[in-house]
Amino acid sequence: MMGKSTDTQVIIVGAGPAGAGASFFLSKYGIPHVVIDKETFPRDKVCGDACSGKTALVINRADPEWLNEILDAPQAFTPSWGIKFVAPNGRALDIPFSPKRTPETKAPGFTVPRMVFDDFLFRKMPSPYCTIYQGASITDIERGDNKVTVNMTHNGVAHIVTAPVIIGADGDKSIVHRKFVSDSSQPKAYAVGLRAYYEGVTDMHPDNYIELHFLPEVLPGYLWIFPLPNGMANVGVGLLSEIVREKKINLREQMLHAIKTNPQIAPRFANARLQDKIQGWGLPLATERRPLSGDNYILCGDAASLVDPFSGEGIGNALYSGMLAAMALKEVLPQRDLSAARLRTDYDDVLYKRLGDEFRISATLQRLSKYPWLFNFVVNKAYKSPSLRNTISCMFTDMDLRDQFSKPSFYLKILFNR
Ligand SMILES: Cc1cc2nc3c(=O)[nH]c(=O)nc-3n(C[C@H](O)[C@H](O)[C@H](O)COP(=O)(O)OP(=O)(O)OC[C@H]3O[C@@H](n4cnc5c(N)ncnc54)[C@H](O)[C@@H]3O)c2cc1C
Repeated sequence: MMGKSTDTQVIIVGAGPAGAGASFFLSKYGIPHVVIDKETFPRDKVCGDACSGKTALVINRADPEWLNEILDAPQAFTPSWGIKFVAPNGRALDIPFSPKRTPETKAPGFTVPRMVFDDFLFRKMPSPYCTIYQGASITDIERGDNKVTVNMTHNGVAHIVTAPVIIGADGDKSIVHRKFVSDSSQPKAYAVGLRAYYEGVTDMHPDNYIELHFLPEVLPGYLWIFPLPNGMANVGVGLLSEIVREKKINLREQMLHAIKTNPQIAPRFANARLQDKIQGWGLPLATERRPLSGDNYILCGDAASLVDPFSGEGIGNALYSGMLAAMALKEVLPQRDLSAARLRTDYDDVLYKRLGDEFRISATLQRLSKYPWLFNFVVNKAYKSPSLRNTISCMFTDMDLRDQFSKPSFYLKILFNR
């Protein structure tokens, strides 16, 4: 069979949230691009399946109708109104995302299996500017002459795609990252997570709060229970890889042990049934600033290590970084300047200006959360203090407030009830 060749403006490798986010906005700006994914959609991705306000924000900016579709389909996308923190001493704290909720308020977050959510995004991608190859196998990526060339096989046909720039949105094991980022002096900060789907977990919050259980045996990580449509729940556990290695923790055993014996958790699983095999995957964390682009390439989402170091949230950051990559390319492509220096100012600097504080605060919170006594102290105080509960609630949207959590003065203030 004859090979095919395509010349385009942007090549996106990966059609998950990062690739979809980039594609939506490139299409909005009328920039032709090719999206290549090795999987065929719908496809699964190991995840907690919880989508935050940042996910909603990007989808709304791409097309407000798409967000309405999500919010109007609670049978597919479970609206979530808050979060339950369970301290290492077992005390639970319910924190609403919207303390001033009215009947008109839309749910700030939602949960949805990635099999469904990523397919939703994938089906929104087609546009006159977007050509998609799914089930494609990339055999080589080359850079030369201010141009990137991708060799792939699609439906048994060899295909060459060329463009001035490539976006690596191909997740945690990114081949674009491996090809272009030669500097291995900055080791990746990693967490590892396990996901299990259960049916029949009882006592879920009536407003579908997501639950984080900070069990002493998995600090500074946590066990989560997230409600899903149709009586299902996403249950998992995540912890820093270095701690798993150092302490030789068997995460799977820890999770199953908690489900069987933890006094708060076990009774709720008395009649629950595991629906699928327990699966694990890595979370590349945004613990420090690292280069996100270089000559003729940009990295987004997990390929750029943009997972929140405290919450483990990566879907919103993947979509958001994809959007910022498209915004940067809208400016730089007409000037034909795809140099590392230009992409650093137009992409890296913008991304860190918007998300850098959030990453810094989350990295500090992650370090603090390894101290069970500190956790117990804050939760015990908040349990008795509506104003502290309100402060924690507002922290989901207010970064300055969240910053308070990383300062010793905050803990002194609550110690003395100020
Ligand atoms: C256990 C666990 C729980 C998590 N829980 C949450 C949560 O509740 N909420 C949250 O926001 N985040 C969560 N995350 C993080 C979240 O899953 C990721 O941050 C998010 O999926 C990143 O999106 P992405 O588009 O960058 O990458 P991905 O979603 O991994 O998508 C990458 C795409 O690239 C494709 N691809 C990969 N390699 C190639 C290749 N060689 N050629 C072509 N295509 C390729 C893949 O098929 C895939 O479609 C969790 C992660 C884990 C591991």
